[in-house]
Amino acid sequence: MSQPLIQQSLSSPVVESCDVLVCGGGPAGFAAALAAARSGARTTLLEMHGCLGGIWTSGCLSWIIDHRNKTGIMPEIRERLIGLGGLASYGEGKHSSAYDVEVMKALLDTMALEAGIHVRLHTRVVSAVKDSNRLSHVVTESKSGREAWQAKVFIDATGDGDLAFQAGCRYAVGRPGSGETQPMSLMAIIAGVHARDIAAFYTDSSGGDRELTKHRLYEYLRAHGIAPSYSAPTLFRIHDDVFALMANHEYGYSGTNAQDLTDATLHARHEVNTIVDTLRRSGPPWDGIRLVATGNQIGVREARRIRGRYEVTLEDLTSGRQHPDPICTVTFCVDVHSTNPVSGRAFGNEDVIVRPYHIPLGAAIAADVDGLMLAGRCISGDFLAHSSYRVTGNAVQMGENVGKVAAYCAAVGQLPHEIDFARFRQETHAVLSV
Ligand SMILES: Cc1cc2nc3c(=O)[nH]c(=O)nc-3n(C[C@H](O)[C@H](O)[C@H](O)COP(=O)(O)OP(=O)(O)OC[C@H]3O[C@@H](n4cnc5c(N)ncnc54)[C@H](O)[C@@H]3O)c2cc1C
Repeated sequence: MSQPLIQQSLSSPVVESCDVLVCGGGPAGFAAALAAARSGARTTLLEMHGCLGGIWTSGCLSWIIDHRNKTGIMPEIRERLIGLGGLASYGEGKHSSAYDVEVMKALLDTMALEAGIHVRLHTRVVSAVKDSNRLSHVVTESKSGREAWQAKVFIDATGDGDLAFQAGCRYAVGRPGSGETQPMSLMAIIAGVHARDIAAFYTDSSGGDRELTKHRLYEYLRAHGIAPSYSAPTLFRIHDDVFALMANHEYGYSGTNAQDLTDATLHARHEVNTIVDTLRRSGPPWDGIRLVATGNQIGVREARRIRGRYEVTLEDLTSGRQHPDPICTVTFCVDVHSTNPVSGRAFGNEDVIVRPYHIPLGAAIAADVDGLMLAGRCISGDFLAHSSYRVTGNAVQMGENVGKVAAYCAAVGQLPHEIDFARFRQETHAVLSV
């Protein structure tokens, strides 16, 4: 049934004109803005929540995957977190590290300000304006009303591809055919228990059998009357007395539908509270457990994958494809959280063996609109490829290199798809962290 329409003519003041405008301040957008600003571009970063970091902070994630092979901003963040006491101190694993959410928030603020990025929080991208086929303005809404932002190059790092969608780009969602997507999860931070007392149940990066700890936690909860919607519930040790909890899966909801996001969040928050209450009531060692925070943004694993000038495919993963214009080297596996609870409520690699592979620049350049780049989980790839490259170590690396390319384009007056990549590297002495 078609809905009634209200016609309203809206005009928006152009509040700023910059070189590089980054939309979305998650791991990818933060790194893109930082790299662009450090390359000399006048850079603005728009973020709808009240902090930078995306899933790292608003989502309370606490666990960085696929960062150990990276150079550039990713190890810089890691080192600075260590200096601030914000990286788990018990040692780091081959691929993953735990961090303190509040320390991460403060660090990203500091780094953004040091680099001279114009940061605007609490500001949501709602529309795009084109001049012919070239993106010319982004329109936002906030407490300041409707505002327009002009830039030479735009980067969509909204995770969900909001800007590219508004600009009219083609995109794909979910599994081919069914469109089923991975479930959302509401992350939580808990305290009031000590690592020495719950060693059988938590995961950290110092080794041990992670699947066993998840299984034990699941069976423990079942023995006390509840079966979490995620059958591999995970406690990540951040400090000895602070943990992140991922125990929830919300199936069948769309990350780009506000009512779905609302329903999933309400349902998830109830489940997380029930799980923590159940643990507390089960007695020692859980009797002091407290739910400190839930993410103010439910974690959306996947939404739109925007059509780029190159699409990363499963074949790239299995063959370990290398490209002459790499912006990231991915080493992480295929990691699909169940898209259908009837066939299981955990995660798996769908029998795919991944060899380290490149993401080429083309996957980060929108195919349908000029002047628009992509970074993070909304880049161009198929369903299984996305499940591998989406993790945050990769989001940072691709963001960083996209930011460098965007700054170069703004400086030389070329569109991203027009540049000669070898020349860009030569002229900028760009050390691409691949
Ligand atoms: C529950 C869950 C668990 C995960 N586990 C891990 C893990 O353990 N380790 C790991 O490394 N990765 C993990 N991932 C994957 C990873 O977190 C994401 O793929 C990653 O966040 C991608 O980074 P991003 O910057 O592209 O997106 P996001 O982190 O989603 O950042 C997007 C940013 O854009 C902002 N934004 C969105 N729309 C707008 C708009 N219209 N206007 C303005 N701003 C906007 C958002 O507020 C956000 O800050 C997990 C993901 C989820 C959901």
